[in-house]
Formats: sequence, C-alpha cells, structure tokens
Amino acid sequence: MNCIADLYELINKMSLIMKNKSILLFMFLGFFAQAQVVIDKEEVIRIETELASDKMEGRATFSPGIELASTFIESEFKKINLSYYDDLKNYRQEFDVKGKPANNVIAVLPGKSRPNEYVIFSAHYDHLGMDKEGVDKIYNGANDDASGTTAVIALAKYFKDLDKNERTIIFVAFTGEEIGGFGSKFFSAKMDPNKVVAMFNLEMIGTESKWGKNSAYITGFEKTDFGTILQKNLVGTNFNFYQDPYPEQQLFYRSDNARLAAQGVPAHTISTSKMDVEMNYHKLSDEVSTLDLDNMTEIIKAIAISSQSIINGSDTPTRVKK
Ligand SMILES: [Zn+2]
Repeated sequence: MNCIADLYELINKMSLIMKNKSILLFMFLGFFAQAQVVIDKEEVIRIETELASDKMEGRATFSPGIELASTFIESEFKKINLSYYDDLKNYRQEFDVKGKPANNVIAVLPGKSRPNEYVIFSAHYDHLGMDKEGVDKIYNGANDDASGTTAVIALAKYFKDLDKNERTIIFVAFTGEEIGGFGSKFFSAKMDPNKVVAMFNLEMIGTESKWGKNSAYITGFEKTDFGTILQKNLVGTNFNFYQDPYPEQQLFYRSDNARLAAQGVPAHTISTSKMDVEMNYHKLSDEVSTLDLDNMTEIIKAIAISSQSIINGSDTPTRVKK
C-alpha cells in the first residue's frame, strides 16, 4: 500500500486481466483522493513552531502571550471550518479565575448519526511564562504542551477531511493547567459526563518514550478497555501503546483528563514523556530543537488510526469505576 511502484505493478497486472485501463485509472485516482487524508509533517512542524515561538512568551495563563496562542488556535479551527461548541458564539469558552478572565479554545465536528455521543481530543495550551531576567528567559513549553496542542489541531484537520465521524468530536485546548487545571475543571463541570464516550488527552508527545520510537503510554490503562481498543486498531502497524510505566507519579489523576475520569468517563492521557529522566521538563530548555518531530508525527498518525473505531461508533470503551 505504501509503495507506488508496487501499486503500479498491481494495476498493470489487473489491467491484463480486466483489459480496461480507463476504469483502472479512475480506481487509481480514487485511491489517491482517499489517501490524501493524512497527518502532514510539515503542518505539524508549522503549528508546533508557532505555538512554541518566543513571541508567545511561554503562554502563561492571563498573559498577552497566551492571548496570542489562543488567537492562533482559533484561526486554525476557523481555517478547518469547525463548528462552535454548545451555545458559544465563537471558539472561546471564557471564565473567571479569582477575578481574572481566562479561556479554553473549543471546536466541534458534529457527528453524522450519533451527534449526542462525544469523543474529546484535548491538550493544554498554557505553560509557565517567563523568568524576570536571563539570556533565555522564555519557557517555550515546546513539549509541554505545545506538542499535544499541535496534535489536537492536526487531528481536527484530519477528521474534518476524513468526513466519516458518526460521533461528535470535540477539540479542546485547555488553559490554566500549569496553575491548577482550571480550564479542564470549568469545561468538565459544564459537561454531561454521560454524553462523553471517550477522552484522548494528549500531553507531551514530542520526545521518544522509554521504549523508543513509534510508541507511547496511556495513563490509567487498566481502568477501562480504551487502550485495548486502540491497540487492536493498530494491529499490522509498527506502533505500540503501553501501560503507564510511572504509576507512582499518579499521572492519571494529574492531568486534564482527571475531572471527567472521576465521573466515570474513559478519559485517558497519552504521553511519551520519560517522567523519571526527561531533561527539559519544566525547564527553559523545553524548546522545539529538542523534539523528534518525525516521531511526533507518527504518534499523531497512530492516534488518528487507533481512535477510528471509537469515532465511527463501532467501539465504545468501558467506563472508569467511580
Ligand atoms: Zn503539561
């Protein structure tokens, strides 16, 4: 499938049998029209580089830098032509944290036959901001979590182009994660958990996992059959999802999936971060240059493929026991 030469040879063989090359040409073109729905590495690089750029000033919640980041994510959602969430009049879900305004950025791809069943893809777009002084004073947060936010945007484009989602897909960039998870708390409090079939929270996927390339881990793997479904959909590929190897760190309860998981939703975080030895975690050195963007693109592809049976309604993960 991935080799044009093989495909051409196959078509030649078939044409000997069918003796009708014009029909085969249309089949060939049809194949490529389908195959154009891809996770594009150049796009991944463009979005990641923009989110982690110095002008975003580390995307601290309430800062002018995060305002730029929000505007950028909104413009990407608009370009993809996604719908607004719930009764919102734009992509911003605004709320107050101790008297200061903050906002999540949310977009929706309505489900074709099961619009009231939701699948959520999320990441946090805030980070730590800036130091007061120094040569490099900007916490770019390229991995944490510009990488996850990039994936959410790339997946939005992918599923819009694919145009096969029976369930409604909600794409969320949360704010306020680094200062206490305020964005996901507000979002989750307003969400009916019974409507949410699954939540893919994407957090730090820009580096190789402890197992190397083409792998990632899922927090709370054993709590539902979400991970087993994803693995099943990857049979025949060279990608593997694993159980969270850092159970002592309680990652399942530490990220933006936790609120909905506590209400029974199969809401899991997918990550590659080596939490015991990740050199750049919450450091000024968390820069795009430290990421493996080829591998990150492969991880986003794997998420796209592995989520397909949940998106199209043929699989429904079991719930987290309350
Ligand atoms: Zn993070």
